[in-house]
Amino acid sequence: MKVMVTGGAGYIGSVVTEELLRGGDEVVVYDSLYKGHREAVVEGAAFVKGDLLDTALLRETLAHHKVEAVVHMAADSLVGESVKVPAKYYRNNVLGGLSLLDAMLGAEVKYLVFSSTAAVYGEPAKQPIEETDPTQPTNPYGETKLAFERALRWYDSAHGLRFVSLRYFNAAGATERSGERHDPETHLIPIILQAAAGQRPEVTVFGDDYPTPDGTCVRDYIHVVDLAQAHILALHALAKGHPSSIYNLGCGGEGYSVKQVIDCARRVTGRDIPVSKGPRRAGDPAVLIASSARIVRELGWRPTQQKLDTIVESAWRWMQRKR
Ligand code: UDP
Repeated sequence: MKVMVTGGAGYIGSVVTEELLRGGDEVVVYDSLYKGHREAVVEGAAFVKGDLLDTALLRETLAHHKVEAVVHMAADSLVGESVKVPAKYYRNNVLGGLSLLDAMLGAEVKYLVFSSTAAVYGEPAKQPIEETDPTQPTNPYGETKLAFERALRWYDSAHGLRFVSLRYFNAAGATERSGERHDPETHLIPIILQAAAGQRPEVTVFGDDYPTPDGTCVRDYIHVVDLAQAHILALHALAKGHPSSIYNLGCGGEGYSVKQVIDCARRVTGRDIPVSKGPRRAGDPAVLIASSARIVRELGWRPTQQKLDTIVESAWRWMQRKR
């Protein structure tokens, strides 16, 4: 299949590109490099530098490369920033997304896999979270992802554009060549590993008075390769006639608390990791755990690297190689 990956120069986009190429698909990466890194674009993929709002360039790229399906990952994704600058999130995540859909309709590309998020649920009513649970985002990031997901339903009924929306929980880990690198870094595992490597003095735990077993937030960490595999299953299912669908993507189980992740990183790295206590971070639910039963049942998705140690080890190995 010929696939365009928007945001393919980012962390998850580069791993999805790797996995697509490995499975024999062809990839064109479309990325503005506003956050992504040119060197993160996997060898073997074509590359077009462009903005999502440039509908004409998107359309030309789709037509020129005879693209059959799109994986749409380009987005702004920081909860805190979204609360401060909602306009940026509406512009890039909603307007940018609609520009992509216009280009797809123009170029007659009918399949889309969309990177959505657990943030669409807001403060969850129950755990584990199922796709049928209420969606009540508590920040513009989740709100704009949900707005685009909803637009997709109407584009399907009006234009037959079929989609799979994947609601990610906490993506983590690395492959041999691709790992997580944001600037500034806000995600827990890279921050902990930077502290282990001596690149930052300590890790601040955002709140230890949550109603969880050890008082720190519990999250559902999923290895980025397992996440990428779900995109490939979704693309191939769409091409075989699978109807538009929404799936959670996490490993389920009990999840891991912030303290457990820090202990795991101490074990894996053998390093001391200084920790300090900080206040809660605005907008953080106490627990976010996915039920991924639907994608397991309908697409046969099977995560293979669920152990936190495996996930953290892969991220640590990648970071060591980068130094
Ligand atoms: N967290 C923390 N200290 C940090 C970064 C994150 O305690 O320096 C916590 C955060 O409050 C959340 C969990 O780690 O409970 C995972 O946060 P992350 O930003 O990695 O992912 P999110 O759950 O926001 O998608």
